[in-house]
Amino acid sequence: MIDLFRLLRLFQRNKFPFKFVYSDVYWMADLGNHVFPVKKYRLIYRNLLISGAHKDNFLSPGQADEEDIRLVHTEKYLKKLKTGKLSHSEMMKLELPYKPELLKFARVHVGGSLLAARRALREGLAVHVGGGFHHAYPDHGEGFCMLNDVAVAVEKLRQEEKVQKAMIVDCDVHQGNGTAAVFSNRKDVFTFSLHQMDIYPARKETSSLDKGMWSGDGDEKYLSILRSHFPDLYKQYKPEIVFYLAGADPYERDQLGGLKLTKEGLKERDRVVLREAKNLQIPVVILLAGGYAYDVQDTVDIHLNTIKTAQKIQKK
Ligand SMILES: [Zn+2]
Repeated sequence: MIDLFRLLRLFQRNKFPFKFVYSDVYWMADLGNHVFPVKKYRLIYRNLLISGAHKDNFLSPGQADEEDIRLVHTEKYLKKLKTGKLSHSEMMKLELPYKPELLKFARVHVGGSLLAARRALREGLAVHVGGGFHHAYPDHGEGFCMLNDVAVAVEKLRQEEKVQKAMIVDCDVHQGNGTAAVFSNRKDVFTFSLHQMDIYPARKETSSLDKGMWSGDGDEKYLSILRSHFPDLYKQYKPEIVFYLAGADPYERDQLGGLKLTKEGLKERDRVVLREAKNLQIPVVILLAGGYAYDVQDTVDIHLNTIKTAQKIQKK
């Protein structure tokens, strides 16, 4: 009997009180020998199952409707994507080997972020094991980002009047330039970006609030900046939903970033962003965004840590 109770407690401890949005389309995209490790999506999915997530915890998104994508992206750009008629310079900017299946990849990520946002509004929190393609502009793609999933999700919820005010908390190491451009001069969407200055994108856009770090900066500086704005920003702006881009690339062993954050520092980052949102009862959508550690397992660990932190906070 004792063993049975112990097993039951273990099961209860491991239960996730929120949904995951995930598609096998995410890891099947063939990028060749590319720094973007799409296999991280599959590895995270498998780890979550091992950690006690049930298959019922997962929702599988479909491709976003074109009509919804057009809330952010131009007709001309969409046509180019559908016909594969990107110019050489457009492909260089996108930094992906264009092929039609990548449009499907991008569209499912958009569908996934919208689905996760809807679930977050219902249940307080949802995790998109994908998304965060924040370098995509209305009329072109950049830096591995073809379509801006978060921007489309925000615009769709606004159009449906599900929310009046949304906040995007972008903690990927790269500035959320595409997202900032989409929502520049908008009062109904607050964009916060905490990023490294001396890396891509060379030309930064203006978010509602930008905080820049420099190569070599570590946990202490990062967390003190974050704590000086959270939870104050939540209290001042009063968003009805938060999209949290929990990029794994501020990590000290990332190939594309130069910050020196440790895994412990990144855990504390997640706690600062998530704890106060929960206390203030603001629904949160977590998105993975970037992560290019030399060892892909580090990227996977960092993303899983974010999810475990969310699990602990949601259970309180
Ligand atoms: Zn990034």
